[in-house]
Amino acid sequence: MDEQKLVEEFQRRRKQYLRKSVPPFLMMIVGFSGFYFLNGGQRVVVDVPTEQFLKFLLAMSIAGGGIVWWTLLTYKTYRCPACNEVPMGGWFHAGSAGIGFSRGVNMNPDACPKCGVQLK
Ligand SMILES: [Zn+2]
Repeated sequence: MDEQKLVEEFQRRRKQYLRKSVPPFLMMIVGFSGFYFLNGGQRVVVDVPTEQFLKFLLAMSIAGGGIVWWTLLTYKTYRCPACNEVPMGGWFHAGSAGIGFSRGVNMNPDACPKCGVQLK
């Protein structure tokens, strides 16, 4: 495969990946907001009735299911066409929570961090 083909193939995979990411993201939003509202916007209380606890559990399962689904999707779909590596990246960030360094999936890489092939 020549370089232009690799770029096209990666961009095709990326588009497909972003489109397929919508349902697991919706699951996470539904799960986490359900958890938040069930809790009345408060912090987790230790002494909750069983029924309430089961609802918490359900909300967290939905959110957790979304996370697992999205992770599997990432490792299945979002790969470098040349070396088959998931493009990861690290970045510094500064905000209200402080300054930190994060590692995660690079959603818009210029080049593959492993084999260095152009992806854009
Ligand atoms: Zn690569």
